[in-house]
Amino acid sequence: MQPHQPFAAARSKIPNRQAIALISEHGDPAAEIGKDAAGGQNVYVRQVGEALAKLGWQVDMFTRKSSSEDATIVQHSPYCRTIRLTAGPEVYIPRDELFEHMPEFVNALLKFQQKEGTNYPLAHTNYWMSGWVGLELQRRQNIQLIHTYHSLGAVKYQSVSDIPAIAQTRLAVEKQILEQAHCVVATSPQEQEDLEVLVSQLGKIDVIPCGTNVSTFRPLSKLDARKQLGIGANEKVVLYVGRFDKRKGIETLIRATSELRSQLEQSAEIDPQHLKLVVVGGSDPQEADGAERRRIEEIVAELDLTANTDFVGMVGHDRLPLYYTAADVCVIPSHYEPFGLVAIEAMACGTPVVASAVGGLKFTVISEETGLLVPPHDVGKFAHAIGRILTDDICARKIRKQAATRVHQNFSWTGVAIQLSDLYRRLLAESLMSPGLARGSSPTSRLSPKQIVKAS
Ligand code: UDP
Repeated sequence: MQPHQPFAAARSKIPNRQAIALISEHGDPAAEIGKDAAGGQNVYVRQVGEALAKLGWQVDMFTRKSSSEDATIVQHSPYCRTIRLTAGPEVYIPRDELFEHMPEFVNALLKFQQKEGTNYPLAHTNYWMSGWVGLELQRRQNIQLIHTYHSLGAVKYQSVSDIPAIAQTRLAVEKQILEQAHCVVATSPQEQEDLEVLVSQLGKIDVIPCGTNVSTFRPLSKLDARKQLGIGANEKVVLYVGRFDKRKGIETLIRATSELRSQLEQSAEIDPQHLKLVVVGGSDPQEADGAERRRIEEIVAELDLTANTDFVGMVGHDRLPLYYTAADVCVIPSHYEPFGLVAIEAMACGTPVVASAVGGLKFTVISEETGLLVPPHDVGKFAHAIGRILTDDICARKIRKQAATRVHQNFSWTGVAIQLSDLYRRLLAESLMSPGLARGSSPTSRLSPKQIVKAS
């Protein structure tokens, strides 16, 4: 990460580039990934932003400043930077409490544009609160608005028991975005269907998947990877990578591992002592995701799996390929997963995936070809599928090869950015040809955080 550079200095080097705004209110593209709430959205915005800059755009990525110690501007490459706006106190604020700060976010963004004399004819917003920001910009500046949901309230609330107070607002804003954005980018056909069935039929939707860096995530030598990580050649490694969040279903994986160990004790196919569960991700127990981490650690202890389990903590993308390569199987037990970057990262490294048959995972993982899909929450089926990969060498070998090929052919960030770039150009061209047909310019009533605060 490069240090802060003054905007004026960076701008003077920009010849004839079209400036566009990527907006990601809580997913800071310059943040450390895997910690607190930083995950797939941060990776998506950063990777897409950098790839779009390589394709000729000037990319300004706006996020909320969540620590006073963070730099206000982080320059990632000559034409791509993160700009942190002050909206609410400069501390971590949980997502469900962020919406009331969005008007301040809009004002800070408008002020920034005014100060720098920049105009963004196009904004690509990420997550529903940024989408709300985009609707506000669309109303005031008639921009082209593109939106990626990353997570959809209408689907998420079906799979959680504790529905937050903000839920009704979120659902209403998600509907407005779909009906008023110039284009919504669904990251899988499943998401497109969910949007049409659960949210509104009045949207314009393009399916463009998420991607992965195929030069970082690629098949390497398993033996070398294990040597570097200190993992023995005999161990049977089951890997989890991701945040500590209840909807990630880590508990299902822990219970499945315990069940598998009991089965192995009876079958003698694999020495149960060699079963190793490696959990990558999460920050210190005191941090925002600490409660779920402590809960998971307690279940591990309760099931007497402590000796079989390693909590590695957060690992950067520079070293993550080693973990995927060293693993025999990567498990994604999510209750709900809009896309699931971890699946394609593991597959790109040639690691078989056992995943819940939900959301984007049903699109990226082809069951029996690039991994195995299992009903979410189903401990017995997870145990069986993991056991199959660990014991059936022919099946595992076939999956390894096909998984890597699928990702390299379909899910590279460069390929994703090319598709987004084409979409942006088409929308900008359309707006020049028919400026009177702007979407979202109809006088629909808009939800404001003030109304919400009054209502709750
Ligand atoms: N990740 C990481 N280090 C970690 C844990 C996770 O870099 O210690 C990354 C992981 O490689 C992936 C992202 O965080 O790129 C998680 O994205 P995914 O879509 O799987 O889940 P989300 O966090 O969006 O729910």
